[in-house]
Amino acid sequence: MKTAELSEKILSGDRRALARAITLVESGREDHRAAATELLEQLAKSGRQALRIGLSGTPGVGKSTFIESFGMMLVAQGLRVAVLAVDPSSARTGGSILGDKTRMEQLSRQKGAFIRPSPSQTNLGGVARRTREAVSLCEAAGFDVVLIETVGVGQSETVVAQMSDLFLLLLAPAGGDELQGVKRGIMEMADIILVNKADGDLKSAAMRTCADYSGALRLLRKRPQDPTGYPKAQTVSALQEAGLDTAWEDMKTLMEWRREKGHWSGTRAEQARYWFGEDVRQALLARLKTTWAQDRMEALSDQVASGEVSPTAAAQEMLKGLGVAG
Ligand code: GDP
Repeated sequence: MKTAELSEKILSGDRRALARAITLVESGREDHRAAATELLEQLAKSGRQALRIGLSGTPGVGKSTFIESFGMMLVAQGLRVAVLAVDPSSARTGGSILGDKTRMEQLSRQKGAFIRPSPSQTNLGGVARRTREAVSLCEAAGFDVVLIETVGVGQSETVVAQMSDLFLLLLAPAGGDELQGVKRGIMEMADIILVNKADGDLKSAAMRTCADYSGALRLLRKRPQDPTGYPKAQTVSALQEAGLDTAWEDMKTLMEWRREKGHWSGTRAEQARYWFGEDVRQALLARLKTTWAQDRMEALSDQVASGEVSPTAAAQEMLKGLGVAG
């Protein structure tokens, strides 16, 4: 299919065309890359924007249950919802692969919903670019909300937070000392902490955990992009669909405030800068990984070790070979 035709179909909201375009951006083939870049440029002209919501949480905390319930609630309100995942392959365990067909069963059947499993790739940098481009494609296809899910391990939260307007951290009810288990950096990224499973026997533990996190959040430095009362913690039950409407109201309040104050566009501009830098860094690192570069590095480092060449001269030689020296 020609890029123009694909672009046309995506703009008309054709989900198959969208899926196809995401496959195109996920491809490593050079001609596909060129076509994807052209497509993204054409689609950027539409100026369509979605609310991008990042969602992180450890396996078992209830992410897919939450997305299913929350997504269904949004769809019932007439909103179109896309779900993407950033899934560092190392985090995959047995049957619970993000985007597994059995997950979000109800939501996946909705006309107003689109669910895309994570691209399989070990390199988080590569996954980040593909997901970011998939987000843009979903926006062009007219989705109102794009949920970007990740397993709460390692670097993937940062990646997701850097492509989201709003970052949610899903936690499970726990004993008081569990608070230590969430890294401060991750807490600082969260706009709203949702303590899930606030139902049945777990309800009082969830409320305690929520109070602990509310207290911890109050101790964090106030961010200029937040109105009073944010970041905040609240309880939800994804299973019983409780508290989801309140959570959504809070998200909307936060985003309206940020939009009014110019923080929304400001954050997106900062994120664009970040990704530009990341793309350059990733491309340079990729050059170092070719067989030629690795052999050359080894040869030059042997020469450096034996004192034949100075480290500086060897580095310059290497960079010249890579075509990046001035
Ligand atoms: P994920 O690995 O984070 O995607 O977690 P899942 O959504 O697969 O949920 C893991 C388990 O927690 C499942 O057995 C769910 O039924 C259960 N679960 C999810 N949300 C809730 C909730 O709100 N309350 C209770 N009691 N269980 C839940």
